[in-house]
Amino acid sequence: MEYIKAHVRDVMDFPTKGIVFKDLTTAFKDPRALHIIGWDLSQLYRDKGVTKVVGIESRGFIGGSILAFELGAGFVPVRKPGKLPADTLKMSYKKEYGTDTIEIHRDAISEDDVVVLHDDVLATGGTMAAAVELVKSLHPKKIYVNFIIELEALHGRDALPDDVEVTSLIKY
Ligand code: AMP
Repeated sequence: MEYIKAHVRDVMDFPTKGIVFKDLTTAFKDPRALHIIGWDLSQLYRDKGVTKVVGIESRGFIGGSILAFELGAGFVPVRKPGKLPADTLKMSYKKEYGTDTIEIHRDAISEDDVVVLHDDVLATGGTMAAAVELVKSLHPKKIYVNFIIELEALHGRDALPDDVEVTSLIKY
């Protein structure tokens, strides 16, 4: 874990003033850090019978794909509006300023699926809470939620429903 932490870059005032952005590109580009991230993420879900990993656009696509591959599961993207080509379900949610919308293909998840939703960083949890609602509306057997990094001071876990298990590799 210390090895991954040593490869996360803090970028001050990005994307706006006052934000300390946890940049994982410096970890992803390091072969050993990428390997450890993939291995450690997959160890959390080895015995859970996971059939689909849902990655949140766009940074969640990286760890989400690796996790799906490691678990022998399928990968499903949750994307910004207008990006997915077939029939979709949409969910809007409040951001600090205004609202945002995310989408998933309506046929992406079935009732037999055991799903892990993955994003790189848990901040306020607003995005993931909306993604959980979206996936819940497709009625999978079980939903887990996972992040590489959790920013504990922002209490993002409180935004997520009590009936989903949340894990993160690194807490700040
Ligand atoms: P949230 O506030 O949890 O809805 O976060 C919105 C999106 O922005 C998520 O995809 C996070 O990964 C990303 N994000 C928010 N704050 C940070 C941060 N300080 N460092 C890196 N990514 C962030």
